[in-house]
Amino acid sequence: MQLALVNKEKVEAFPGGRGNCPVCGAETIAKCGPRIMHHWAHHRVRDCDPWWENETLWHRNWKNKFPLECREVSHTAEDGEVHRADVKTPTGIVIELQHSTITDTERISRETFYQNLVWVLDGMVFQNNFDIYHMLPDPKSELAQDIVWSKAKRHMHGANYGLFFRLSEAIEDDASITKATLRGGWIHSIREIENEILQSYSGYHQYDWVKPRKTWLEANCPVYIDFGDDYLVKLDQYDQSGLKCVRLVGKHKFIHDVMVEDHAEKIATRFYPISRGKPRSEINRPSHEWVPPK
Ligand SMILES: [Zn+2]
Repeated sequence: MQLALVNKEKVEAFPGGRGNCPVCGAETIAKCGPRIMHHWAHHRVRDCDPWWENETLWHRNWKNKFPLECREVSHTAEDGEVHRADVKTPTGIVIELQHSTITDTERISRETFYQNLVWVLDGMVFQNNFDIYHMLPDPKSELAQDIVWSKAKRHMHGANYGLFFRLSEAIEDDASITKATLRGGWIHSIREIENEILQSYSGYHQYDWVKPRKTWLEANCPVYIDFGDDYLVKLDQYDQSGLKCVRLVGKHKFIHDVMVEDHAEKIATRFYPISRGKPRSEINRPSHEWVPPK
């Protein structure tokens, strides 16, 4: 743990420190060796939270982005079950920072327990299996309504640059066709509509996750992956065709939104023009102008 109670205040570990676990009250002892990240550990008893994973520097850096009172917050369910959330914001959103793999059962039990939850995954370990491909127009744009994309996949070079069908053309042959049922037709290249896409770009991209950690594709709560960039990569579904996509969301935007939105699903859905402490040139910049990966 990063924080324990000393004289009723949550404090970081210090050499020789003794405190108490904010959840179970057990005595905690500061671990401040020269080669370890300073932390608190339960003394003589096991950690009271079976969901707790050993903190990495990545966990610690994320927690430090939030005010002290938002970190390692105990959360009690109606039936009295207690867990320690990595981060819980003033508006009630819980952020779980996940470095290691977890089972479906554990994912589901945490989602059920916290409900208003967003996952942030440490993507560094699987970044070589994760490709981000061409831009997609905003799914709500007029342009997107007429387009069904060919699924991009590693080694499928055409689809990775952007190939699509037009619903309006398919309907000429068969009026009953929808995005969900379209299977072929005239194939178009993204080059035909590049400028239009740029105009309606809001962070969406095609991607391929080779050997994915499947539990995250089935998650009920939003999943954002941190690959160490200025933006997070949100797993998403693009449209009625069933196409899976990602959306790039700036870390500043994410951190701002979890502190002000009241539900995890609302993160990155609205544009906030007020941006304290940022250079003037960034104020009023659309929230979606994140540099796409190469
Ligand atoms: Zn405890």
